Amino acid sequence: MSFAKASVRDADVAGKRVLVRVDFNVPLDGGRVTDDTRIRAALPTIELLRERGASLVLVSHLGRPKGAVKPELSMKPVGERLGELLGGALVRQAPAVVGDDVRTMAEGLHAGDVLLLENVRFEPGETENDQGLAADLASLADLYVNDAFGAAHRAHASTAGVAEHLPAYAGLLLEREVTELSRVVESPARPLVVVLGGAKVSDKVGVIDRFLEVADEILIGGAMCFSFFRAQGIATGDSLVEEEGVKLAEEALRRAGESSCDLRLPTDLVLGKTFDAETEVRQSDGVEVPDGWMGLDVGPETARAYADAIAAAGTVLWNGPMGAFELEPFAAGTRAVAEAVAAAPGTTVVGGGDSVAALQQFGLGEKVDWLSTGGGASLELLEGKELPGVEALNDA
Ligand code: ADP
Ligand code: MG
Repeated sequence: MSFAKASVRDADVAGKRVLVRVDFNVPLDGGRVTDDTRIRAALPTIELLRERGASLVLVSHLGRPKGAVKPELSMKPVGERLGELLGGALVRQAPAVVGDDVRTMAEGLHAGDVLLLENVRFEPGETENDQGLAADLASLADLYVNDAFGAAHRAHASTAGVAEHLPAYAGLLLEREVTELSRVVESPARPLVVVLGGAKVSDKVGVIDRFLEVADEILIGGAMCFSFFRAQGIATGDSLVEEEGVKLAEEALRRAGESSCDLRLPTDLVLGKTFDAETEVRQSDGVEVPDGWMGLDVGPETARAYADAIAAAGTVLWNGPMGAFELEPFAAGTRAVAEAVAAAPGTTVVGGGDSVAALQQFGLGEKVDWLSTGGGASLELLEGKELPGVEALNDA
């Protein structure tokens, strides 16, 4: 899917009210936004619309209020942070998602004004893609723009249903995400090297399947590798092994045997006694893990081999840390991959909340060509699934 949807860049928005679905699902701590990456990512679309004389009605979800009003999941701190990022502009905060008061506020907007609706998941109709809620949201505006790539894999009222009631355009972030991620699968510079790690095979088996068909190499790390080792009959000790993942890994190994893509596993590990930064640590030359020990990182030989493959790649896609990088004794494998990705001459794309967090933690976020803001959505796109929030938009 190269991008074939109508773009906000081509929309006639002057003097119009635009409902913009954004992904402001940011982490909060005591009523403060602790990471505003997702708010910043929506600024280009918001600024474009304001510059072109539109008024904006922004809508997002935040956390999982499950259809009830949860004051601790109010959008208020998000609106305050957005105002700061817009250079002190006033961000009006709606008292609810829809209703008469909200409509009155929307109707009072002038060119350049911004109104932020309350957490759309306060409404039970949101996740049910309720047509009544979709129609109520649509009635607040003349046009709809979806810039919430991180929520585009969900068919909800604010991501899909609303597009049936208004002319519907892609925002700049959503368009860029789809373009960058699609290119990795459809027309990558070769060789295409895919580095996959993280906790569970079951999260990423769809991506493994897809890349066994299109990639040149898949490099596996993280706890995920222990499902593969278990499937090969190798002892995994007390390592985190996802039982469901063992069957999936066995299946992936079988398909890899028939594929021209090289599926590579770690050749050495770093072990710890418990999931703890203070635990006893030991390197292991092979990949057998004795009882009483857990594999918590890939070893230096694996890290070097993976870094070499990344350096030789035309395109690198990285999703999922190589180990328990939050614990310093087990961060080296992830750091080595992050540094290799940052230094790679090829095109580099990183997705997944924890992999992006790892890159930022090492101060390397700026050195990557594209950092995806969408965890689940980016995986589904890479798997080749259609994203309801993209499909619902008008064709270009
Ligand atoms: P992403 O968000 O990048 O997609 P995941 O959510 O799949 O990544 O996995 C990240 C988590 O996996 C991290 O919290 C990390 O501590 C954990 N992890 C990685 N390797 C191991 C391991 N060997 N043992 C236990 N946990 C691990
Ligand atoms: Mg994660």
